[in-house]
Amino acid sequence: MKLIFLGPPGAGKGTLAGIAVDMLKTPHISTGNIFRAAVSAQSELGRKVKAILDAGKLVDDETTIALVRERLAREDARAGYILDGFPRTIPQAEALASFSAVDRVVNFDIPDVSVVERLSGRLVCRACGFNFHAVSNPPAKAGVCNHCGGEVYTRDDDKPAAIEKRLQVYREQTAPLIDYYRARGLLLDIDARPAAEEVGRIFRKALGI
Ligand code: AMP
Repeated sequence: MKLIFLGPPGAGKGTLAGIAVDMLKTPHISTGNIFRAAVSAQSELGRKVKAILDAGKLVDDETTIALVRERLAREDARAGYILDGFPRTIPQAEALASFSAVDRVVNFDIPDVSVVERLSGRLVCRACGFNFHAVSNPPAKAGVCNHCGGEVYTRDDDKPAAIEKRLQVYREQTAPLIDYYRARGLLLDIDARPAAEEVGRIFRKALGI
């Protein structure tokens, strides 16, 4: 199944993707994780995008589209994928439609206040990208990922000023995709307020898996 996870930062897309990959046996492709890995590796791409990520702004469409196009062409993404954090603009959605036919777009519905609460406590594994929360779901051992033993840290863009910027960018550039995909009959709205396990149950039922 070819899925897009759409929703504001902190809606739980990454967390649900971590659960859904086991159910669907398809890769979880997070453009945010790919950009962060490039920043950590100090690659040419990483040097180009670091300041943009730290400020909570969007990487340009051309760079992002080329990266996703290349990733989706790989063997493991042929039968299906979960795209998390892409597309984020209408031009990205149009480009995606030209090289891959998506089956469903899962829209994570959540109010801003819940987003701020989640992002300000979010902890992420630097190695596998798994998400924890300082209060509601801390790693068993502080600073260490339960799943792969990688380092668990707070993203620079989960600091308050960047959170506000990312929400503004979401409202202006990404939220229009809700109507874009609804008009194409692909949208599946999910109430993203409950805890991850419950959202996982709702997701499973809605997709019949
Ligand atoms: P995320 O982990 O999805 O919140 O993404 C983290 C950051 O990576 C974003 O704030 C952007 O700077 C960048 N990014 C991720 N996905 C995209 C995208 N589809 N288009 C442009 N920038 C992106």
